[in-house]
Amino acid sequence: MAKKIIVAGLGHGGIAAAAILAESGYDVTVYEKQSEGTLGYDWTDIFAPKALKIAEMDMPDEDKFEYKEDMTFVAPNGAKLRQHVPEDELEIKMERKDIYDHFIKNAVDKGVKIVYDCEVQKPIMLGNRVVGIRTAKGDFFADLIIDSCGMNSPVRRNLPKSLMIEKEITRQQKITIFRAFYNKASDVEVEDKFKVLLLPEGLQGISWIASEDKYTDVLIGRFEDFDMDEVNRHLEYLRPTNPRLGTEIVRGGQFVEIPVRHPLSVMVADGYAAIGDSAFMTVPLIGSGIANSLKAARILAETIINDDAQAFSVESLWKYQVLFYKHLGTGLAPLECVKNLMFRFVPEDLDYCFETGILTDRNVTMTANFGSFFDTFDILDIPDLLNKAKQSCADPVLLGKMLGAGNRITAVTAACLAIPRKWDRKLVEIWAKAYTKIF
Ligand SMILES: Cc1cc2nc3c(=O)[nH]c(=O)nc-3n(C[C@H](O)[C@H](O)[C@H](O)COP(=O)(O)OP(=O)(O)OC[C@H]3O[C@@H](n4cnc5c(N)ncnc54)[C@H](O)[C@@H]3O)c2cc1C
Repeated sequence: MAKKIIVAGLGHGGIAAAAILAESGYDVTVYEKQSEGTLGYDWTDIFAPKALKIAEMDMPDEDKFEYKEDMTFVAPNGAKLRQHVPEDELEIKMERKDIYDHFIKNAVDKGVKIVYDCEVQKPIMLGNRVVGIRTAKGDFFADLIIDSCGMNSPVRRNLPKSLMIEKEITRQQKITIFRAFYNKASDVEVEDKFKVLLLPEGLQGISWIASEDKYTDVLIGRFEDFDMDEVNRHLEYLRPTNPRLGTEIVRGGQFVEIPVRHPLSVMVADGYAAIGDSAFMTVPLIGSGIANSLKAARILAETIINDDAQAFSVESLWKYQVLFYKHLGTGLAPLECVKNLMFRFVPEDLDYCFETGILTDRNVTMTANFGSFFDTFDILDIPDLLNKAKQSCADPVLLGKMLGAGNRITAVTAACLAIPRKWDRKLVEIWAKAYTKIF
């Protein structure tokens, strides 16, 4: 009889892994709290299409996506850096609802069953093993539970402490986002169609403004709660330099949260594996997580398929975590240190980095598609690094902040590389504590 796998929550990584597993003969059921046809947000997302192939998915139909334009990054004083992304590295922009439709069709075609309108409440444990989920529609049992319920997963948060899996996320490790499409107030030509403002108004966060043909796409991200009054106040600040930005919301208009932290230090247990936002797999600097979830889906599915005993013990699932850290986590985790460096920056620090060449067009170009600290700063580009070091030395306070971040980046990278190759409870406990302590 086929082994039973439950995917809790229809997250992107979970549904992608479900498809590969169902095609390989597993009996896979996804339990999702939303109703059929209502998943996603009323806005577009950007992700690297290469990840689809990795997750054994086709490209969507051509009328469902477009290639993303280069972005302009703006410092608090208005200084700019521009991306020049090569054609074969371009990301695609797609409606979130179309992304879901594409992923769901792929999974259903491959044999995945989906139960909608079914809220997962908590895991069901037998000793230290996760054996099922309690839902609003009753209890369901399986040989393995894949947790794809997102950042606040009730499965992860209700696991016993003995499994050593972190439950909570701190305020600084998540960003609150307001996103809306506003009507077009004028036909004025805009110089930079897609702008990302860093520390706008000197506030901790980012704002992006994309002047599309029919509307202006606004995203405001802050590391604190904020409300519509604050949104409207900030929009007044943006309008003089963005005359096309109207006052009427035509789509979106919600506040949501994205995790921007290092991946979970332990993401597996007997009968359990977390994926996507549930395991904090987003890029900590920019919050994109679709491509990483797809790549993780392939790693997880292959680990499950190659598990000789098919017992889905913590020992066999640990291979998923080791491979995840090897291919993704070791590049992602140091980016939380870069994000934290931004917290220590005053606007003048960022202005200085833009103006003196500590940050360059090349660095911001690498933010397209990037999932790794090492993609953003090419450690083999010695002349560029020497220039950055020379410029930083001229400002001792900034140099202190950069050196502090540099030390943490080195420590995090070393910790990721030192992940125990095999599951050993004591060793993993020591490693996870040491790794988490750095942040
Ligand atoms: C405003 C915003 C913009 C973003 N833009 C981008 C972007 O442009 N590019 C990019 O790559 N990433 C982007 N991201 C991040 C991206 O959405 C996630 O990192 C990625 O989708 C992986 O998250 P997930 O699918 O694992 O979790 P989620 O997207 O949180 O999905 C979890 C799923 O589980 C379901 N669920 C939750 N709780 C329960 C429960 N108790 N019972 C049953 N079901 C449950 C939810 O309904 C949902 O379907 C953005 C996120 C936000 C919020």
